[in-house]
Amino acid sequence: MAIIIRNSEPAYAGTRSLLASSPCRHLIGGRWVDASDGATFETHDPASGRLLARLACGTEDDADRAVEAARAALRNESWREMTPSARGKLLWRIAELIDTYADELAELETLDQGKPFKTGRLGEIPAAAEQFRYFAGFATKILGSTIPTSIAHQPAGRKIFSYTTREPVGVVAAIVSWNSPLLMAAMKLAPALTAGCTVVLKPAEETSLTALRLGEFLIEAGVPDGVVNIIMGYGETVGAALVAHSDVDKVAFTGSTEVGKLIVAAAQGNLKKLTLELGGKSPAIVLPDAEMGIAVPGIARGIFANTGQVCVAGSRVYAHRSLHEALLDGLAREAARLRLGHGLDPEADLGPLVSRAQAERVAGYVSEGISEGAELIAGGQGSGELGAFFEPTVVARVSPGMRMMREEIFGPVVAVTPFDDVEEALAYANDSPYGLAASIWTRDLSSAHRLSARICSGTVWINCHSYFSPELPKGGHKQSGWGYENGPQGLENYLETKTICVMI
Ligand code: NAD
Repeated sequence: MAIIIRNSEPAYAGTRSLLASSPCRHLIGGRWVDASDGATFETHDPASGRLLARLACGTEDDADRAVEAARAALRNESWREMTPSARGKLLWRIAELIDTYADELAELETLDQGKPFKTGRLGEIPAAAEQFRYFAGFATKILGSTIPTSIAHQPAGRKIFSYTTREPVGVVAAIVSWNSPLLMAAMKLAPALTAGCTVVLKPAEETSLTALRLGEFLIEAGVPDGVVNIIMGYGETVGAALVAHSDVDKVAFTGSTEVGKLIVAAAQGNLKKLTLELGGKSPAIVLPDAEMGIAVPGIARGIFANTGQVCVAGSRVYAHRSLHEALLDGLAREAARLRLGHGLDPEADLGPLVSRAQAERVAGYVSEGISEGAELIAGGQGSGELGAFFEPTVVARVSPGMRMMREEIFGPVVAVTPFDDVEEALAYANDSPYGLAASIWTRDLSSAHRLSARICSGTVWINCHSYFSPELPKGGHKQSGWGYENGPQGLENYLETKTICVMI
């Protein structure tokens, strides 16, 4: 396995100064503060293993302080009475700061998460800015309605006049995963702030750095103190404290289905509102008339991008038997073409996984599958010596019951299985506890639309995979989640409705 490590030094002053500020602190009530007990933990560059910085390690007390600051900010006039237009402008300013510092943010994300610089710079960082821009437009369009009623027992000469208003849900705990750290944070903050909520953001312990830089931008943009608080640390401690906190009104979570279920249980105490963006095991169905020149690179991108650490990664491919072998050959060629390296090297197509633990987990799935009879077509090797790399991997003869076909691997591993007729493919595709996304590859758009209606998933792509935009609602069916992000639905999750009834 060839790995390119020619450049791992930060080029941007902002990155260097953030790393030099180690130990980095929480943002609570507009001030940068240490953990209540002074404890810190480390964050590393997963490509080289190098220590990047020490970070304040959140405690239950920190969760209390952050929630208290968010509650106070919710009551504060500077936020509560901010006009919709001013709130929209504030969100727009955050977007502009992200764009202005996009190179630096992409560099920070590469160092902390591992993804190639170009993946962040061309994709995720501008997409984070677009989240704020998209929702900024909604700030002036959050409307109630007047409602004619049919109440029979009104006193003579009087009538009931009724209307609704929309209100922020309140204090939101936003807890996010490590695969696309800044973008996941933006997907929570943008709709929450548009709705007038206040937030405690907890980034994943592996990838907190871009959230901290975002915190600096929020202050610069003029977000009032306490409206957004950022606390770092481990899920089982500070994350769990936020989820159980009696003064948190809603949890907006992106992460695994396993932790999603823990959150459902922990949120019972005060019946918090929940939105859960959870795991997936997304199928790609390749019909006999698929255009292979589009399907092969599209499916390869759908699984290998971000080294497979994408919730919607197309990790199960069901290919019609007539083109099964050709698809395997094509995917193997695509896998061999991708260059692994440090994300700051412009020649690297794929970076490492987020950590050695994740690389070992991926390797475990592959070796178990092979020992149970799956056939390795390409890749399959990891590098424990140099960071957390794992080769893009193609596996055939994976039976429906194998763990590598049923569980989310969250790495660059695709299992390919042949089918003979479309009902069989549909049954395979729907045979999963997950229902996040799917793709269909065919020249026959009528078949594609008919099939897409029968696939149990929140998104279906036709002749493409993994395309997102803030305008497109995104959410999981079955055990892939509750609620939606993006689109008008994404804002609804942060709003309550109040009905007002007046006798006139
Ligand atoms: P994870 O569930 O391990 O952790 C996610 C976050 O939850 C982290 O911030 C973690 O610290 C926190 N956490 C962990 N235990 C907690 C607890 N008991 N209480 C409160 N918080 C806790 O997920 P991960 O490994 O960071 O991310 C990968 C997962 O995220 C995959 O399953 C992937 O599919 C999913 N994901 C889903 C989407 C989506 O939109 N559906 C998007 C990205 C990632």
